[in-house]
Amino acid sequence: EKEYDYLVVGAGLFGSVFAHEMTKRSKKCLVIDKRNHLGGNVYCEEKEGINVHKYGAHIFHTNDKRIWDYVNQFASFNNYINSPLSLSKGKLYNLPFNMNTFYQLWGTQTPQEAKAIIDEQVAKYGTKSPKNLEEQALSLVGKDIYETFIKEYTEKQWGKKATELPAFIIKRLPVRYTYNNNYFNDRYQGIPIGGYNTIINGLLKGIETKTNVDFFKEREQLEGLADKIVYTGKIDEFFDYKHGQLEYRSLRFENELHAIENYQGNAVVNYNDSSFAFTRIIEHKHFEFGKQSKTIITKEYPEAWDPSKEAYYPINNDKNQGVYQEYKKESQKLSNVIFGGRLAEYRYYDMHQIIASSLTKVEEILGIEK
Ligand code: FAD
Repeated sequence: EKEYDYLVVGAGLFGSVFAHEMTKRSKKCLVIDKRNHLGGNVYCEEKEGINVHKYGAHIFHTNDKRIWDYVNQFASFNNYINSPLSLSKGKLYNLPFNMNTFYQLWGTQTPQEAKAIIDEQVAKYGTKSPKNLEEQALSLVGKDIYETFIKEYTEKQWGKKATELPAFIIKRLPVRYTYNNNYFNDRYQGIPIGGYNTIINGLLKGIETKTNVDFFKEREQLEGLADKIVYTGKIDEFFDYKHGQLEYRSLRFENELHAIENYQGNAVVNYNDSSFAFTRIIEHKHFEFGKQSKTIITKEYPEAWDPSKEAYYPINNDKNQGVYQEYKKESQKLSNVIFGGRLAEYRYYDMHQIIASSLTKVEEILGIEK
């Protein structure tokens, strides 16, 4: 008899939901994280009374009532609607691409006028079988939208020329022929009142947790503690990189405290131009309609990744997918380890998708039908 049923490695959303659900069913869990806090990438740090999204701005959105009801058990949500702006060549535009954007770009007032311009530019600059991201974008939205909002931003994001990036990075570029700046199409959206830590604390209430514990530094001892392991760290690290290292894109966040109430009037402003090394400025207080006398902003700089940096975005090319498949095969041979979450599955997931995948995993294990 081991002390715990589950050792959960990683106190992000996947691990926290898993531990919560299993604890509810009288399983004994220990949750560890190598960071000095719980919550993984949704963790917020309070500064000047403002919740600062430490690992990048997080806006909760879902179309799934089950997931919405699930998170609402732990926090109420405010009515924040994400409506980012884009600064391009000295002018501000509304996003996502909609009638406001087209009015600002071309002065068009009706959907017919805007659509005519886009169709004309797609016909003129697009190609039947786009070979790279630039050709893909031109074929989807034409020259003006591509050059004003996509080219330089994307090149900063990936550190490569748009003509050297694969076309599949951009599958669709939705354009909206209504005056609607709501970035998401989902039915439910908001920021948890009290911040994301409220949800994590709710999920992990009454569960044993340990921070500053790296699984790999005490592997044998930790493995001896529990019947099963739930692993939400990097899958290549679990197997000691035996099939090679998976690659990521990283980010650097530079925070600034300003002694003014309102810096940019919006939570998210994208900086398209290559003359700015950062891609966006986040003003955190606006996620919660904050009225503090000071404000904290974060400049987000895309960066090359190396193992000393945070792994933010998987780089989904054939090479990495091949390496990942090798690890996946290995992972399926281990009956006492459950792999889940964005790092163990080498996949970009939104929060609602991670919660759904953790709930599904629990149901699979318990043999519960949805
Ligand atoms: P994580 O939160 O990364 O948790 C994994 C945990 O495991 C980490 O805490 C890590 O420290 C720990 N760990 C790893 N290895 C070890 C080890 N060896 N020992 C101990 N602990 C270990 N989603 C949205 O829905 N809306 C958004 O607006 C949004 N914005 C985002 C912005 C950015 C910049 C990024 C990168 C992501 C964004 N997401 C957003 C996605 C969201 O962050 C993820 O869906 C979610 O955080 C994933 O949870 P997770 O548990 O899989 O991973």
